[in-house]
Amino acid sequence: MKQNYQLPDHGAERMRTGSAKRITFSMTDDLRHLGQGKTYFIRTYGCQANVRDSETLSGMLGMMGFIPASGPEDADLSIFNTCAVRRAAEEHVLGELGSLKPLKTKHPEKIFAVCGCMAQEESMARLIAEKCPQVDLLFGTHNLERFPQLLARTLSGERTIEVESDGAGSVVEGMPVSRSRRYKAFVNIMYGCDKFCTYCIVPYTRGKERSRRMQDVIAEIRAAKESGAREVTLLGQNVNAYGRDLGLADGFSELLREAAETGIERIRFYTSHPRDYRETTIDVMKEYPNVMPALHLPVQSGSDEILKRMNRGYTIGRYYELVDRMREKIPGITFTTDLIVGFPSETDAQFAETLELADRCQFDSAFTFVYSPREGTPAAAMEDDVPAEVKKERLAALNEKIGFYARRNNEAEVGKIRKVLCDGPSKKDPSVLCGYSEENRLVNFTGENIREGDIADVRITEARSFSLNGEAVR
Ligand code: SF4
Repeated sequence: MKQNYQLPDHGAERMRTGSAKRITFSMTDDLRHLGQGKTYFIRTYGCQANVRDSETLSGMLGMMGFIPASGPEDADLSIFNTCAVRRAAEEHVLGELGSLKPLKTKHPEKIFAVCGCMAQEESMARLIAEKCPQVDLLFGTHNLERFPQLLARTLSGERTIEVESDGAGSVVEGMPVSRSRRYKAFVNIMYGCDKFCTYCIVPYTRGKERSRRMQDVIAEIRAAKESGAREVTLLGQNVNAYGRDLGLADGFSELLREAAETGIERIRFYTSHPRDYRETTIDVMKEYPNVMPALHLPVQSGSDEILKRMNRGYTIGRYYELVDRMREKIPGITFTTDLIVGFPSETDAQFAETLELADRCQFDSAFTFVYSPREGTPAAAMEDDVPAEVKKERLAALNEKIGFYARRNNEAEVGKIRKVLCDGPSKKDPSVLCGYSEENRLVNFTGENIREGDIADVRITEARSFSLNGEAVR
């Protein structure tokens, strides 16, 4: 089989000169028939940016004539859209790729493709290219729009390993999308990240911060609304930095206002960064009831010293100030966060400050992680000196505290009536419906004549640790 490697280069990813290329997607006629009579399956790992990229891939595959299948066994083409944020997620993907070997031996005509952040990571891309011969196509986050051409090469018998390194990156408009849920739309507002938190691989895998033009974002929201979307989630690694590269001084607040003015029923945004948060954004959240009162605001640590070593760009005092101001201006707003324990040099006293933070902020929930070094990041060069046992104990202590407040906050919901956007039957118990309240709490509920995509008024009857039970009242 012909092979032609182009692997990522983190040195090039760090070079951020020049501005992003602006491209309009198009597909030639010969590519439109590539998938006639063929099926595809996509497995998506990681964050909403990946979910959105998978929706774009599905859109392109649909244009090429492919139809969905339920798993790699039934599919002619299987794509694994990967996440590189944590080592554990990568190991999971490598395990899954390993388990595909017998299937590939039995059906060499099946195509296996890997994309996403792992593909864009220098060492991981090399490992997949050299040690996973069952992978026929490897492409990164920077060349998503070239997927149809790359796939055509793979289908013609060429093993295609092509991952571009492009620090400046590109913004591609006009890509097709096949949303997994008609009533919920993910809309990218920007790509990449310039923050370079010392533990994080994202600035290397997703490139420089670059924003879509406001009119393109608003047009996508309007189109999604016209085709039935009730909720839109604005996506970016750091949405508060939206528009800086376009010369906008307060781009995100402006964009949020414009989005709210479209009249779509629910707006969420993800992820926020405490460093770039502006008062005007809080004012827009307060002014427009269709901007949901729920915020994911990653903090990572309660210690100023650790925040500095993480290069987070704010103090814990600034974080508290922000949370307090939002709670004062937007009564009932809920907060979730991300926390890392056992960052290099974290002392018992510094970890105690993280526990103090959990007491002070009383989050609704948190993604808590044990620090693990990511190759190529500055923190990987720091001595990983917190023993594994200590990291484990800290994680357990933190989870206990987070769980305590999550349950307590949920208990305070009992008896209230909340508006829940129904996602259909619960996966765990198909006899009940499930969905999310405006405050982004998961609600399992009973009710008659309620369909996926409906917004139901639900009386909360019971609190669980990370969900609520209820019954629809109308
Ligand atoms: S803000 Fe920090 S943690 Fe978030 S994506 Fe950027 S570098 Fe990573």
